[in-house]
Amino acid sequence: MDAPVSAAGESLDRLLAAELDGLRRTGTYKRFNTLCSPQGPVVEMAGRGQVLVLSSNNYLGLAARPEVIEAGVEGLRRYGAGTASVRFICGTFQPHHELERALADLAGTEAALTYVSCWNANEAVVPSLTDEGTVILSDELNHASLIDAIRLARPARKLVYAHSSMDELREGLRSCERGQRKLVVTDGVFSMEGDLARLPDILELAREHDAVVIVDDSHGTGVMGKTGRGVAEHFGVVGEVDVITSTLGKALGGAAGGYVAGSEEVCDLLAQRSRPQLFSNALPPTVACSALEAVRILRREPELVARLRAVTASFRARLRELGFAPLDGEAAIIPIIVGETSFAIRVSELLLEQGVFVTGFGYPVVPEGRARVRVQMSAALEDAHLDRALEAFGRVGRELGLI
Ligand code: PLP
Repeated sequence: MDAPVSAAGESLDRLLAAELDGLRRTGTYKRFNTLCSPQGPVVEMAGRGQVLVLSSNNYLGLAARPEVIEAGVEGLRRYGAGTASVRFICGTFQPHHELERALADLAGTEAALTYVSCWNANEAVVPSLTDEGTVILSDELNHASLIDAIRLARPARKLVYAHSSMDELREGLRSCERGQRKLVVTDGVFSMEGDLARLPDILELAREHDAVVIVDDSHGTGVMGKTGRGVAEHFGVVGEVDVITSTLGKALGGAAGGYVAGSEEVCDLLAQRSRPQLFSNALPPTVACSALEAVRILRREPELVARLRAVTASFRARLRELGFAPLDGEAAIIPIIVGETSFAIRVSELLLEQGVFVTGFGYPVVPEGRARVRVQMSAALEDAHLDRALEAFGRVGRELGLI
C-alpha cells in the first residue's frame, strides 16, 4: 500500500494543482506528443498517424541513421549500460576518449570533455572559470542553461547586454577593472530567433579587453560552416574561440549529452573541479558510441550540411512566396512571428491537424506579443515532404488570415 501523503504534502499538491490550472487557462500548458517510431522527417504519432516533423533538432537526420543505431547497440554490447559511477571513481570507457578527441578536432580546440547534457556542460564551465573577481558579460537572449550557469557561478558582477549589441558589450568591457577576469558568454546560434552571434566582433572586443569568449554552439554544430564545424567555421575563426560548448542531442545523433571544447588546461581543470563531472555519471557508452559515429558521418559527408542549407533556404523562400514573413537567418531555424501565445499554439495545432508538427512558442520563452511558430529544418527532409508541409502552411495561413 502507498504511504499516506502528509498534510504538508497535500497542501503543496493543492497549490501546485492551482498553478497547473493557471497554465491550462492561459493556454501555456505543454503536452507531450507520443512518438511510436524513431525521430525522422516523418514519424508515427500516437492518435495522429504519420506526421511530418518540422520541429526537431535532428538537423542532419542522424538520429535514426542505421550506422548511428548500430554503433550505439555495439557500444551497449561491448561496454554494458554504463560506468555505474563517476568517471574518476570508477573509470571511463575507451569510446569516451575517442569521442572527446573527435569533438575537439571538430571544434578546432586542443581538447574536449563530455557531460550528460549541454545543460550540464554549461553549468560546469561557467562556474568553474569564475573566480571571486570575475565579471560575466552575457547576451540577453542566451539559452536558459547559460543564464542558470551564470546564476550558479555568482560572479563579482554580471552584465547582460542587449541582444547582439556590440556597443553595450564594449561599454561593459570598458567598465571592468584591469586584472579582473572577464567572460563573454553567448549562444552561437540563438535558438528562438535563429540568428547568429556577431562572433568576429565579439572576438575582436574580447582581444582588446583581454576577455575570454565562451560560445554555446548547440544549434550551430553540424549546421553552420561549410563542413558543419559550427559558427566559428561559418565566420572563418576556427581555433580562435576560447571555449565552445555544444550538445550531442541535436545534429550529432540527437540522443543526449554535451561537451566543452577548449584548451588542455580548461578541460583538465573541468575534469578536476566541475561539479557535474565530479558528482555525476559519464555518458552511457551507447550514447558515446552513437555520437562518435555521428561525428564521423558529419566529417565524411559534408554534403549533409549542404543539403540542410539548401533545404532551409528553399523553405524560407517558399514561405515568403506564400505570404508568410519568416525571420531572416542563416541557421536551420525559421521562426514565424504570429503575435499572441494562444495564437501561436492555435497555428501549431492546426498544422498538426494537417499532419505537420511545428511547435508554437510564447511568453515567457519569448517576449509578450512575439509568440511564434519555430520551423526547424533537417537534411533528411525530401522535396516531397517540403511540398506537403507548404501546402499545410498555405491552408492554415489562409484559414487564420495569416497570409
Ligand atoms: N544550449 C542551447 C543553445 C540549447 O538550445 C540547448 C537545448 O535546447 C541546450 C544548451 C541544452 O542542451 P542539452 O539538451 O544537451 O542539455
